[in-house]
Amino acid sequence: MGDFVAAVDHGTTSTRFLVFDHGGRIVAGEQLEHRQILPKPGWVEHDPVEIWRNTAQVIEKVMADTGLSWRDLSALGVTNQRETTVVWNRRTGRPYCNAIVWQDTRTDVLVGAMAADDRGRLVRHRAGLPPATYFSAAKLQWILDNVPGVRRDAEAGDAVFGTLDTWLLWNLTGGVDGGVHVTDVTNASRTMLMDLETLDWDDELVRIFDIPRAMLPEIRPSAVPSGHGRATGDGPLKGPVPLTAVLGDQQAAMVGQLCLEPGEAKNTYGTGNFLLLNTGTTLVRSGNGLLTTVCYQFGDEPPVYALEGSIAVTGSAVQWLRDQIGIIRDAAEIESVAREVPDNGGVYFVPAFSGLFAPYWRPDARGAVVGLTRFSRKGHLARATLEAICHQSRDVAEAMEKDSGVELKILKVDGGVTANDLCMQIQADLLGVPVSRPVVAETTALGAAYAAGLAVGHWASAADLRDNWHEDRRWHPECSEEHRTAARDTWRRAVARTLDWVEM
Ligand code: ADP
Repeated sequence: MGDFVAAVDHGTTSTRFLVFDHGGRIVAGEQLEHRQILPKPGWVEHDPVEIWRNTAQVIEKVMADTGLSWRDLSALGVTNQRETTVVWNRRTGRPYCNAIVWQDTRTDVLVGAMAADDRGRLVRHRAGLPPATYFSAAKLQWILDNVPGVRRDAEAGDAVFGTLDTWLLWNLTGGVDGGVHVTDVTNASRTMLMDLETLDWDDELVRIFDIPRAMLPEIRPSAVPSGHGRATGDGPLKGPVPLTAVLGDQQAAMVGQLCLEPGEAKNTYGTGNFLLLNTGTTLVRSGNGLLTTVCYQFGDEPPVYALEGSIAVTGSAVQWLRDQIGIIRDAAEIESVAREVPDNGGVYFVPAFSGLFAPYWRPDARGAVVGLTRFSRKGHLARATLEAICHQSRDVAEAMEKDSGVELKILKVDGGVTANDLCMQIQADLLGVPVSRPVVAETTALGAAYAAGLAVGHWASAADLRDNWHEDRRWHPECSEEHRTAARDTWRRAVARTLDWVEM
């Protein structure tokens, strides 16, 4: 057995390949960004071919730079941005169109109608999700209805659907030459097509979205000792490394943060934010705007569920300040710009670019900056952006406490934005509980590696991993209760201004 375990971590903005040692330390890694294609307001696309090319490139670069061979790797885990939808032809290997990204709102009218009637109730109950543009099924229906030839080819068995895990696995295991067409329970639980109890595609849900069943991948546990497949000799790994784990990125981060017991929670700050709470083998249905999702399923053990609060726009609001507004040159600069001012100067920014996700689920919301005066400057907008990330997280944390009855005592955090010390301090202030960041911030990739390594016995058990988790830094609340309450009240008023903006 090799000394290392590797992970492909394909996120919304970039794709990474990381190699971990037995202590969970990063031995080597590479990362490549892919294009964010924004053809119209509300539309967000990625090029699946570019993503596969980037994946192959980062793998090849790490293997070449380190001199590692495929024999050094015990197993490979794959983790991915969830919900983003690809349809390709299994004979040619070519996608029919760009992938429709989870943030894309082109299906708002379709899901808006559904949310209001019996179909909405069925989706909520069976799939654990409120009908929303966020999830895959409506995106897939859109492709079937709008891209010429797809429905015909799907009925003939040639056009197949996958989220990014499925697309990457198919390519890694040989593509047109016998690639496997599978997904895992965590990714499938984000489609609105899977029954959370049976863990299989649900006939009624599939019918509601008018999807030919033959195009759906086989649903597997997240980790299997025998592997979902093996890498091919002519692929970037150049040998049959077993692909033993597949997990959606947020679920992988739960594993990487070792939130493996009921009541353990983490918040990932990437393009969007995702706060998840492990609820064990109990399926908890939310009464407060959270999602019920599969956290992971290891081998033939029962599935572990989670409650999730998904926030569409957090780190991507920082990207927006950089790319569209131009007040910062890179994401990290937001911190020094925000520190130019002592407070937000009364400015609040609600980045409801894709409507509002949890706990509001309002596709009709659009972004707003409120409280501007002649005094306002870019530091205020920068600060308001960081505060928006933290207020939204607090909104979700409150909903989670109500649903679960578990009081948050500490928040484990990870993701790109957690490099921002000011933002983490604001988070502790607005939550009123400490915020804790681990040494290995790449928890998503680490979780995929852990799941893959556990499956092949590289690590004996989850207990074996506990020693690998080390805190890097902890932020304690410093602001007064009075300040916190006032800030929360103003935030809620700002959110109210963004609702009902688009006629559905
Ligand atoms: P993903 O996995 O969704 O691609 P990452 O965890 O890589 O996301 O985080 C990337 C996001 O973090 C980007 O949206 C970027 O704007 C944001 N980001 C990165 N560094 C900082 C920083 N120092 N301060 C604030 N935001 C940051």
